[in-house]
Amino acid sequence: MAKPVLLTVDDDREVLRAIERDLRRKYASDYRVLRAESGEEAMGIVRELKVRNNAIALFLVDQRMPGLSGVEFLAQAGTLFPDAKRVLLTAYADTDAAIAAINEAGVDHYLLKPWDPPEENLYPILDELLEDWQAAFPPPFEGIRVLGNRWSPASHNIKDFLARNHVPYQWMDIETTEADPEVRDLVGLLEEEETRNLPVVIFPNGLRLRQPTLAELAEHAGLKTKATEAFYDLAIVGGGPAGLAAAVYGASEGLRTVMIEREAPGGQAGMSSRIENYLGFPSGLTGADLARRAVVQARRFGVEIISAEATALRVDGPYRFLQLANGAELSCHVLLVATGVQWRKLGVPGVERLTGAGIYYGAAITEAMSTRDEDVYVVGGANSAGQAAMYFSKYARRVVMLVRGPSLSTTMSQYLINQLKATSNIQIEFNSSVVEAHGKDHLEAISIYCATTNEVNTVPANSLFIMIGAEPNTDWLADIVERDERGFIYSGSHLVRDGKRPNGWKLDRDPALLETSVPGVFVVGDVRHGSVKRVASGVGEGSVAISFVHQYLSKVV
Ligand SMILES: Cc1cc2nc3c(=O)[nH]c(=O)nc-3n(C[C@H](O)[C@H](O)[C@H](O)COP(=O)(O)OP(=O)(O)OC[C@H]3O[C@@H](n4cnc5c(N)ncnc54)[C@H](O)[C@@H]3O)c2cc1C
Repeated sequence: MAKPVLLTVDDDREVLRAIERDLRRKYASDYRVLRAESGEEAMGIVRELKVRNNAIALFLVDQRMPGLSGVEFLAQAGTLFPDAKRVLLTAYADTDAAIAAINEAGVDHYLLKPWDPPEENLYPILDELLEDWQAAFPPPFEGIRVLGNRWSPASHNIKDFLARNHVPYQWMDIETTEADPEVRDLVGLLEEEETRNLPVVIFPNGLRLRQPTLAELAEHAGLKTKATEAFYDLAIVGGGPAGLAAAVYGASEGLRTVMIEREAPGGQAGMSSRIENYLGFPSGLTGADLARRAVVQARRFGVEIISAEATALRVDGPYRFLQLANGAELSCHVLLVATGVQWRKLGVPGVERLTGAGIYYGAAITEAMSTRDEDVYVVGGANSAGQAAMYFSKYARRVVMLVRGPSLSTTMSQYLINQLKATSNIQIEFNSSVVEAHGKDHLEAISIYCATTNEVNTVPANSLFIMIGAEPNTDWLADIVERDERGFIYSGSHLVRDGKRPNGWKLDRDPALLETSVPGVFVVGDVRHGSVKRVASGVGEGSVAISFVHQYLSKVV
């Protein structure tokens, strides 16, 4: 935490230097001592500290200054830092004014100049005030703050990115400006240009980014966006359970390993509000917890984790070159593709336009708090939709699941069906699908078609979470590895048809289990053709793949 500030203001330079010296001598180890030569200059410092969310513990201010007087300054600065202790420095002749200021500007104490020796006339008073301040003071939030609008897709993406990368942040909704003094203060201090171009991200060092891209955010939030080496034994694209498991096994077995993840480690599993069937966690664990633990484990073994998107692969003899969206390139002996799947889009009118403004793909856990006491609609009938409904039921007034089929029994695990049935504020509507989304700048209503009655009903809705299956995003590998008609990547025995090896395959052996149609390029997890789409199977494949990687490397290196 940044040290709280002691701010001293005096237009007489010599006096100012003397106060600063005395303050530093006694308090420098616990406080930051700042000084200003006028009330106006001091207000500039105060505003900047407020934007950075730094704390001011004490103002020590001369009363008689040109421009803003001490009392006037304290009254203004006190609106931004109401808890800071206020001490006025006065000459003997101004004692009456100082006494009046005790009421007027809430002054805690006045000190007569000169205060020598400080051990007798300054420190005992300040010690007492600072002790009081420490005892009552709630430390301010020290991390990144995001000021935006609840209904803005850009704000949602930023919150989601930071949350999933475990970067602490404070969300400040501009719509609460009137009700929330903290938001009001911040809005008042930013340039008009900034509040017109939300979201704005404010870093503890004062840096402000207006409508940043995720790559810019990653760079400034301390995530690594460039590889430190030019060459690795093993490069993994995708940091879901499969990629993370491969990273842990690869690095722990001595391979120089880099893992490239475009959003956040954890992948789909990281978005799960509760994984109940992963071995060894009898009461379940959140996907975020699983991801956090796996990242710590991977880092401990020396895996380099890079926040970037892989956009192209080039194969040149025994080397594989990976192109990243940020323009960087890295090379490796073995590439492991663990890019998983993405949510299938719901192609009905209004949905694309309102995505991020009340409509979300996946459980969008960051939005849960804002659904408090509202009705939430969840589209889908598989485990992910069931988990999301359970999660939102803790916040929302009512959760309505819209399921296209007539039952859940073939699409959802029985334990989840039992939980849904036992939760009083969850309602399941079968044979129902969303056919249109309505709203000007955010979702306001949805039209639902019921196949049983053949009717369409339009109901008010502010939150719609869509979980209707998934598809792989492997276009960047299209001309390189063999894929099925939906884009899932073939591996191992799937590539040998009628005894024939894949086109262009020159080795005197069949592709290994989990190896693609290009030697030294492996595929694991949900993106693999024929995979079982579960956390444990992704983890299993990621771990097993490493033994084939070793076999491959033993022949090329
Ligand atoms: C809400 C939800 C709940 C679930 N609950 C359970 C459960 O309870 N139990 C269970 O067993 N399974 C559950 N699943 C399924 C499970 O999460 C998946 O099977 C598992 O996450 C697949 O892991 P993966 O590593 O193959 O891929 P993913 O988890 O999809 O990870 C792939 C990663 O690759 C990244 N990526 C993609 N393309 C690129 C690129 N070009 N460059 C860089 N990075 C890229 C993505 O950002 C992503 O992080 C759930 C899934 C969801 C969505």
